[in-house]
Amino acid sequence: MMTQQHFRPTKAIIDLQAIQQNVQNLKKLLRPNVQIIAVVKANAYGHGDVAVAKAALEAGATILAVATPDEALHIRAHFEEPDILVLGASPVSFVPFAAQKRIILTVFASEWVQQAAPLIAHEADLLRLHIKVDSGMGRIGVRSEQELLELSNIIQTANNMKLDGIFTHFATADEEDTSYFDRQAHFFEQCLSALPEKPRLVHASNTATSLVKGAHFQYDAVRYGISMYGLSPSSYVEGILPFQLQPAFTLESELVHVKQLQAGDSIGYGATYAAPSDLWIGTIPIGYADGVIRKLGGQEVIIDGQRMPIVGRICMDQCMVALPKAYAIGEKVTLIGRQGKDVISIDEWAVKLETINYEVPCIITARVPRVYV
Ligand SMILES: *Cc1c(COP(=O)(O)O)cnc(C)c1O
Repeated sequence: MMTQQHFRPTKAIIDLQAIQQNVQNLKKLLRPNVQIIAVVKANAYGHGDVAVAKAALEAGATILAVATPDEALHIRAHFEEPDILVLGASPVSFVPFAAQKRIILTVFASEWVQQAAPLIAHEADLLRLHIKVDSGMGRIGVRSEQELLELSNIIQTANNMKLDGIFTHFATADEEDTSYFDRQAHFFEQCLSALPEKPRLVHASNTATSLVKGAHFQYDAVRYGISMYGLSPSSYVEGILPFQLQPAFTLESELVHVKQLQAGDSIGYGATYAAPSDLWIGTIPIGYADGVIRKLGGQEVIIDGQRMPIVGRICMDQCMVALPKAYAIGEKVTLIGRQGKDVISIDEWAVKLETINYEVPCIITARVPRVYV
């Protein structure tokens, strides 16, 4: 495959070896025969779904999970073999495609199964389903044993459908206090015992559950998202990590213009920043349309191994940094990642943006090409 040429120097560099190392380290935590479900939803948390899926499969993952039907089709177009699970809700209109493309869907309502059953066109096609149990997220899923049994009965009596799995998702696995987690786990266990027959894949753990609970709650498979990308789900989990996670996401650009300002000269829309003294200003071709949203004003970048602040309002396509001296056009600018001895982490951006690290690579938009090393 030819790699596409990009002319703007702004790019996200994805370290696939770091992702593989993370998957291999995570795999060591698993009991024998526990499968890894690599969660590559949202374009692999902004890292690039196809490249990440390939790296994860090579490193030991056996199943790919996405959030939406369209994401599943995109993955299936590149991977013939592996199981693909849609974690979110799918409309019944997707059922014929899922059956034909061997995409596993998540179910949680009997009416959905009743509407879906007649839509499986070919005798040979078998739609595999995982039941979602809402043990306390309040998002999607059955909320009682009775609902669960009704749903599993309907699936079992439908032609061309197979109950392939059952799963739940924990709301507080990344926190030290386990009381809410324990209640969720207890309800899920109750649901499992209520089922007359255990399906092929029982799964409950995300990254936080796996890292906090060790050998417990692994069942048949574990769903790894954030840890695969080398990020910790919370500061609590960061403190108890059994191995070091390796971040995979670097955001880089270059200076495209450098000029000297005199004291009092202003920068950017609204002229909100005035040079306190004569100083050098560099322009970087990245802005809020790339996901470098205006709230990142004041955030530092690394140039020549040193930190320098973004000054003035961030524009749609460009932003400006204060430089201690004149740098050449083409000087490398690291917005996220390591340069020299310093590093700007995704967690640093998350603090600045008053959000969680999950959100940061996701908001770097598709205009920023993902390149792989
Ligand atoms: C996104 C998601 C995951 C992955 O969670 P991480 O915290 O990133 O490991 C697992 N399970 C479900 C249902 C999800 O939606």
